[in-house]
Amino acid sequence: MLLQERKSAMTAIPAITSISQGHLNTWETCQRKYQYSFLEELSLPDADLQRKKNLLLGANFHLLMQQKELGLDISALANSDPKLQAWLDAFERQPPATIAGDRFCEHRRTLEIKIDLSLHHSENSDRGQEYFVLTAIYDFLILGDRQAQILDWKTHQKAIAADQLQSNWQTRLYLYLLARTTNYAPEQLSMTYWFANTAESTIIPYSQLEYIGTEAKLTQFLTEINQARSYPQLPLNSPDCQYCEFRDRCDRGSPEIAIETYGIEDIPEVKI
Ligand code: SF4
Repeated sequence: MLLQERKSAMTAIPAITSISQGHLNTWETCQRKYQYSFLEELSLPDADLQRKKNLLLGANFHLLMQQKELGLDISALANSDPKLQAWLDAFERQPPATIAGDRFCEHRRTLEIKIDLSLHHSENSDRGQEYFVLTAIYDFLILGDRQAQILDWKTHQKAIAADQLQSNWQTRLYLYLLARTTNYAPEQLSMTYWFANTAESTIIPYSQLEYIGTEAKLTQFLTEINQARSYPQLPLNSPDCQYCEFRDRCDRGSPEIAIETYGIEDIPEVKI
């Protein structure tokens, strides 16, 4: 099972200025994985067909939910796969609680931020690399009078514990971006995850404390990403290597072990 390389590992590494939750989660997990995923753009093995099929099914559910909100006929798409129909039935039987307000599907939101660099990295400034564009696409967003609610559909996971959801960069970035780009106070924002396999909802509240903490961490990560000149592997026997798609490349375990971990961010919300 060989990874396909779209670019040689030996080619010059381009700078990335658009940052999604996927970049931040990967940077926090392993810098080598960040290099492989985003700088060298190594893709999933062709042999990992089941994983690819599941990702496509999840993407189709997101499309189905978008078309449903727009009032389009979704019967053909829903009937195209029993799983899609089951998820739709689950949603109609037990939808997440929502606030009243203006509703937006697949809503893209960006924010340009500037990171101040230390003087000895001023050559980066000359190349204009201190600017980043934070990017998110919300599955569903409701802007009410006094509250705003982000909703996210999860299809390939069992329900994930609230503390795991709260610490994931999807939650942190999505809420931070909404706070930065609207007049809502952090306490007026929340994010709801709805799990299609169980029809369970988990609501993550937001606070000024979380907002400040995310801002500080973002500054740290973006400075590190900007200034990185090497991308170290995790130490041997790190738990994160066990299910990493690059473990064969890193000589960290057999590529034949099935990957059955579906992370919170497995359905990509944006192609950057
Ligand atoms: S196998 Fe381990 S060290 Fe290598 S990219 Fe994956 S997480 Fe990082």
